[in-house]
Amino acid sequence: MSYAKLFDASRCTACRGCQKACKTWNQDPAEKTSNRGTYQNPPDLSAQTRTVVKFKEQEGGENGIIWTFFKDSCRHCIEPACKMIADGVDDKAVVVTDTGAVVYNERTAKVEGMNCGYNIPKQEKEGAPYFKCTLCFERITNGLQPACVTACATGALNFGKREDIINLAKKRVEQIKGRYPEAHIASDYAEVNYIQVLHYKDEMFEMAADIDKQRKIKTASRRDLLNPKKAAGMLSKLLS
Ligand code: SF4
Ligand code: SF4
Ligand code: SF4
Repeated sequence: MSYAKLFDASRCTACRGCQKACKTWNQDPAEKTSNRGTYQNPPDLSAQTRTVVKFKEQEGGENGIIWTFFKDSCRHCIEPACKMIADGVDDKAVVVTDTGAVVYNERTAKVEGMNCGYNIPKQEKEGAPYFKCTLCFERITNGLQPACVTACATGALNFGKREDIINLAKKRVEQIKGRYPEAHIASDYAEVNYIQVLHYKDEMFEMAADIDKQRKIKTASRRDLLNPKKAAGMLSKLLS
């Protein structure tokens, strides 16, 4: 059964409980960071941080400033660009599971220069393991919710059957339209298992993900499937 996770930006208070729960569950260490004049901390995803709450100020709204938050992590793509790259080296290095979770393993480290249009996979150094959100594969296959969802007190995160999550996302958009007329579901929703309800048009976080690049990789790799080594090299270049 395919599952999905929902992030509803209109309900996120940026408490970062999800970020902390993710680290605790995965036993990922804390990172040494510095004050960069923002609450966003650590600055981005890394080999120690599989999900990060991003902060952004934009012009607009009643008071001239809109503050938005976004929980960034792997989108668990239905046809993942990272897998297309990895398949050029080892077709078992990235596994798309029946649950919808895209899972890495010990073979993934052998793939050089792996990336995607969402800029997700991270490694400490070349040859080291790649880290990213697992969709809490061990939890969801044992009847539990992902740790980040369990920690979210506001209902900004939900997890369930993919079709239920899409219906919930549509319902949420209808519920918040009165307050946020530009509310919408992020445009990549048909291609991922991390569905986002965004409350402003062109919300910067949607823009930050290079969805077009992600699509380009898929088209290119399909064309070159007969020569996977060539495809891997070409796709890495496309992503750099
Ligand atoms: S726990 Fe929920 S409300 Fe808090 S930052 Fe994460 S998604 Fe937002
Ligand atoms: S978001 Fe990136 S790392 Fe995650 S499954 Fe999609 S292509 Fe792979
Ligand atoms: S699903 Fe699990 S691994 Fe992914 S961000 Fe949530 S807690 Fe972290």
